[in-house]
Amino acid sequence: MGSVQIVTTILAAAITAVAVWLAVRAVMKMTAVIRLGQPAPERFADKGARTKKMLVETVGHTRMLKWSVVGAAHWTVMVGFVVLSLLVLEAYFEVVTPTGGLPIIGSWTVFGLVTEWIGILGLAGILVLMAIRLRNRPGRAENRSRFTGSTMWQGYFVEWIVLLVLIFGFVIRGFKVATDHFEYPVWATPLSHAVGAVLPSWENGASIAALIKIAISMTWLIVISLNVTMGVAWHRFLAFPNIFFKRDPEKSAGSGLGPLRPMTSEGKPLDFEEADPEKDQFGVAQVEQFSWKGLLDFSTCTECGRCQSQCPAWNTGKPLSPKLLVLSLRDHAYAKAPYLLAGGGKDLTGEEKATQAQLAHMDVLALAEADRPLIGTAEEGGVIDPDVLWSCTTCGACVEQCPVDIEHVDHIVDMRRYQVLIESSFPSEAGVMLRNLENKGNPWGAPQNTREDWTKGLGFEVPRVGEVDDFEYLFWVGCAGAFEDRAKKTTRAVATLLNEAGVKFAILGEGETCSGDPARRIGNEFVFQMLAQQNVETLNEAFEGREKSKRKIVATCPHCFNTLGNEYGQLGGEFEVVHHTQLLAHLVSAGKLTPVQPVDGGVTYHDPCYLGRHNRVFAAPREVLGDSIQGELTEMPRNSERSFCCGAGGARMWMEEKIGKRINVDRVEEAMSTGAKTIAVGCPFCSTMLNDGVNGKGAGEDVEVVDVASVLLRSVKPDAPAGEKETAPAAG
Ligand code: SF4
Ligand code: SF4
Repeated sequence: MGSVQIVTTILAAAITAVAVWLAVRAVMKMTAVIRLGQPAPERFADKGARTKKMLVETVGHTRMLKWSVVGAAHWTVMVGFVVLSLLVLEAYFEVVTPTGGLPIIGSWTVFGLVTEWIGILGLAGILVLMAIRLRNRPGRAENRSRFTGSTMWQGYFVEWIVLLVLIFGFVIRGFKVATDHFEYPVWATPLSHAVGAVLPSWENGASIAALIKIAISMTWLIVISLNVTMGVAWHRFLAFPNIFFKRDPEKSAGSGLGPLRPMTSEGKPLDFEEADPEKDQFGVAQVEQFSWKGLLDFSTCTECGRCQSQCPAWNTGKPLSPKLLVLSLRDHAYAKAPYLLAGGGKDLTGEEKATQAQLAHMDVLALAEADRPLIGTAEEGGVIDPDVLWSCTTCGACVEQCPVDIEHVDHIVDMRRYQVLIESSFPSEAGVMLRNLENKGNPWGAPQNTREDWTKGLGFEVPRVGEVDDFEYLFWVGCAGAFEDRAKKTTRAVATLLNEAGVKFAILGEGETCSGDPARRIGNEFVFQMLAQQNVETLNEAFEGREKSKRKIVATCPHCFNTLGNEYGQLGGEFEVVHHTQLLAHLVSAGKLTPVQPVDGGVTYHDPCYLGRHNRVFAAPREVLGDSIQGELTEMPRNSERSFCCGAGGARMWMEEKIGKRINVDRVEEAMSTGAKTIAVGCPFCSTMLNDGVNGKGAGEDVEVVDVASVLLRSVKPDAPAGEKETAPAAG
C-alpha cells in the first residue's frame, strides 16, 4: 500500500464511520417517531400478498410507470441505486489498492457488463429527472407546478449526488483502463474504455477517484441522517415498508384507496354504544393519534407533488394541497416528537401526562410545537388550517397518483371525525344536512312518505320488497334518486329499462334510508353508524335465506354503491352491489336491451370519483354510451383514473364553495371544450354540479347534462314517452 492509499483508506474509513453512526442514530429516531402512532394490527395480515404487492410495485414500478417518461427514468435510477451500491462497496477495495475490486464477482465480465449498462441507463435517467424537475420548478404560475411547496434544494441535492456518484464510477474505471488494470473487454464496457482513452495513465488515479466517490456517497448519508424529514431521500428505504403495509394488498388496481376504516381507539374499532370520549379516542386531535402507518406515510412522502397536480381543490385555488397537508403533518410530528418521547402528551381529557420535572427538562422548541392545535388557523398557530381540512372532496385523486401509496383521504377524514364529533366544528351550512339525516333519514329533509313518488305515472308497477320474493335485484334508489328532481329522471329511466329487459327487481320504498355516505365523509361516524345499521338490518331481512351471490343490489348513486358494497361489510352487511351502468351494459351485451336510434350531437362522459377511481368502473358506462350513440365517445383530457372531480364528494355537496374558482365550473369548461352537446354522468351529485355549471355559463340551451341511463333509454325507446320524463312530482 503506497502513501496515497494509506491516506485514501484512512479518510474513507473516517467519513464512513461518521456517516454510519449518524445513519444509525437517524434510523433509531425515525423508528421511535413512527412507533408513537396508534396500533394498526390489520396491517400485519396477509404477509404473502403484501410481499408480492411490494415487489410488484417497487421492482415493476407499476404505479410510477403511469407517468411513463418519469417512471422509466426513475426506474433506471432506482435499479442503479440498488445494483451500483456494489460499486460503492468496490470503491473501498480501490482506496486500498488502485487495482482492487470486489472479491469473486469483481473479475466476472457479466458483472462488468451489467454494472456498466445500469450505470449508463442511470446517467440517462438522472439527467431526465433533473431536466423534469428544472422544467417544472415553481415559477410564476404557482399552482401549475407540482413542485410548488416542495423543498427544492433537497431534490437538487439528491439528484446531483446520484449524478456525481455515477460519473465517478466511470472515472474510476477510466483510470483502471488508462493504467492497463481493467479486465473487462471493450464490448462489455464501452463507456469506461472511452473515458479511459482521455484520462492520463496515473497509477493513483483510481484510488483518489474512489475516495471522492465514497466521500460523495457518505456526504449524502450524513446530510439525510441530519435531516430525517428529507423524504426525497428517505423514500428509497421507506417506500418498501410503506407499500408493504398498505391498506389492501389484495386489490389488483394498486392504489391505497378503499373503504373508509371504522373509527378505532388503540387499534380496536369503536363501539358507539359504549364509547366514552374521555376514555376512547374519537378521530384524530393530536398528531400521535394517527396510527403508526399514518406516521410512516408522512415520513415516506417524496414531495413529488403528483397528488397536488391532480387535486381539484388545489387546481381551483383552494388552500388544500394533499402534498402540503402531508408535509405539515410530517414536520409537526418530528418537531413534537422530542416532547412525546420524553414522556409528554395530553390524555383524552386534555391533561398533561408529563410531570413538572419532566417538562422543565424538555426541548423548548418541542414544547412550543406541542402547544399548536392540530386544526387551527394561522393566528391560532394551527398545523392544518380548517379551510384546508374542509376543502377536500375525498375524490381520491391524490391517493390514486401517489407512487408510495400514502392514504391521504383516511387521514383527512380522521381529523374531520374529531372536529365534528368532539368539537362540533365544521362548516355551519352542513349542519342542516346532518340534522336532516338524523331526523328524516335523508339530507334534504324530505318526508319519508314521498320516497316512492318517483314511481307515479311510469306505466308499470314497481314492486316493493315483501310484495314479491323472487326479485333478482334490489333496486337501491338512494335519497337523490327519490327526492331530487333531476336524479328522479335517472331513477325512472333505470326502472323503465329494467322493466323493458325483463329484470325482476324490487325496491325498499319507504323502508330505505340514507346510506350514510355524506355523514361518514364529513366525519360524523355516529350518524353514519346509525343509518348504516338500520339499512343493514333492513337489507339482511330483505335477503333473508340468500347466499351472498344472490344478495344483489343495483344502485344509481356511486356514493350508495360504494358505501353499500364496500363499507356495510364492517357492520355485517355483505351484498353484491352493482352500479346501474354495469347492469345496463350487461343487459345490452346480452341482447336484452337493443339501442336502435343513435343519439347524436356528440357525447362526452364525466367519471364520478366514487364510481371510477374509488371502484374502478370505467368501462361499463362507456360501453353503454358507445352502444347508444353507435360511435365513439369524445373523451375529456382528464378522464378515467385522472378524471377531475365535480366538487360534490366528501359532503362538499352541502357546503358552500367560497374560496377560488368553483370546481364544477372548471370541469364544465373542460367538458364543453370537447364540443359535445351531451355531458353524460353516472351520479346524481355530478349531475347537479355539472348542470349548475352549464347553467352558470349560460349554455343550458346548447349543452345537456344527463345520466347514462337516460341516454340509453333514448336510444332503446326513441318514440316512447321517456320513462324519465318530467312527470314525477317534485320533492317535498
Ligand atoms: S381527495 Fe381529492 S380533494 Fe381531497 S386532497 Fe385528495 S385530491 Fe384533493
Ligand atoms: S404523490 Fe405521494 S409522495 Fe408525491 S407528494 Fe404526494 S403524498 Fe408525497
